[in-house]
Amino acid sequence: VQSIVVLGSTGSIGVNTLKIAKKFGIKVEGIVANSNTTLLNQQIEKFQPKYVAIANEKKKDAVKFDSLFVGSGGIIELLHHCQSPLVVNAMVGYSGVMPSIECLKLGKRLALANKESLVVAGKFLDCTQIHPIDSEHFGLWYLMGEKKFSKLYITASGGALRDWDVAKMKDARVEDVLRHPNWSMGQKITVDSATMVNKLFEVLEAKWLFNTDKIDALIEEKSIIHALIEFEDGSTTAHIADVDMKLPIAYALNQKIEGQILKPIDLLKVGSLKFKSIEEQKYPLWKMKDYLLQNPDMGLVLNAANDMMVEKFLNKEVSFEAIYKNIDKAIEKFDGFILNSLSDIELCNSAVRNFLLT
Ligand code: NDP
Ligand code: MG
Repeated sequence: VQSIVVLGSTGSIGVNTLKIAKKFGIKVEGIVANSNTTLLNQQIEKFQPKYVAIANEKKKDAVKFDSLFVGSGGIIELLHHCQSPLVVNAMVGYSGVMPSIECLKLGKRLALANKESLVVAGKFLDCTQIHPIDSEHFGLWYLMGEKKFSKLYITASGGALRDWDVAKMKDARVEDVLRHPNWSMGQKITVDSATMVNKLFEVLEAKWLFNTDKIDALIEEKSIIHALIEFEDGSTTAHIADVDMKLPIAYALNQKIEGQILKPIDLLKVGSLKFKSIEEQKYPLWKMKDYLLQNPDMGLVLNAANDMMVEKFLNKEVSFEAIYKNIDKAIEKFDGFILNSLSDIELCNSAVRNFLLT
């Protein structure tokens, strides 16, 4: 592609996307941020986008750009103006869902970091138009060939609390949970890693992207192996790459890459690799995995509850334990939920949030 739009340009994936765009000489036609106006202003100056939107209306006066689009409606307006065939959606949580739907409606391809879009609305999204920017799904895509597979594996790091006593985890503080052992990412996904919600999301993401229920996850603490495919013939292949999102981003922008994006892994430095199962005692939400695969519409409920509780946890309003307790509560309440159409999403998302407020 010659030009792209980047939603969530000021975030961890957004910033890396702009670096890759610059490296490939891809024009950045539009950018969208929420509240980091300092960085947004720098990006405006450096990339000279034609269109800019800020989601947080209170911040609009701080953005140095004429004809700025404002609010969540402003993001949709921006998408309508942009001509680029590819949109990178690196917004966080539910906020990214409607923009994803709109991109596909407009006939644009979607380079998708916002996995919540697939978790919430997977069955209504055309995955042939989606390039995943998630290291595990990128790894699966990279390994996938003509041969029939019997199982897809994605790996988990175990998150910031992986070495903690189970008994102490319930009271983990925000600072503890944000100390991810391997990846440097946005706050929300870092919390999702510690609760294993991120891996539940990724299982659903893989279900929609690869059209299969034969998906499982394993802990690989070095996060060097991102995904494995077990084929029917009994062979298993693994995708090994450094802990750096630039590789998945690069391929989401350009599938015909030549030359180096990352330094190869020094296998001798890695030494040994170890796989562990995800223990339900430590990650109580993991018990939901098969249920979610069988009831994928429940992804909307999981996401709505998780979005709300993680927000509260990051604001220090609730304990770490409250995240999974409230997710359980919402799943129980909305058990059997079916999403009938795209137009129900907003209402259903609010229904779950309202339930948890009471
Ligand atoms: P960050 O928190 O670093 O960035 C989020 C971005 O979204 C920021 O640009 C932020 O703006 C913007 N944003 C936040 N809320 C809104 C809103 N309501 N409307 C519009 N924009 C908003 O997150 P990450 O980059 O880490 O993650 C982004 C997505 O990518 C998530 O879905 C995550 O799960 C996924 N992902 C991330 C990976 C990573 O390595 N970071 C790996 C795989 C997936 P501002 O900063 O200006 O407030
Ligand atoms: Mg991932």
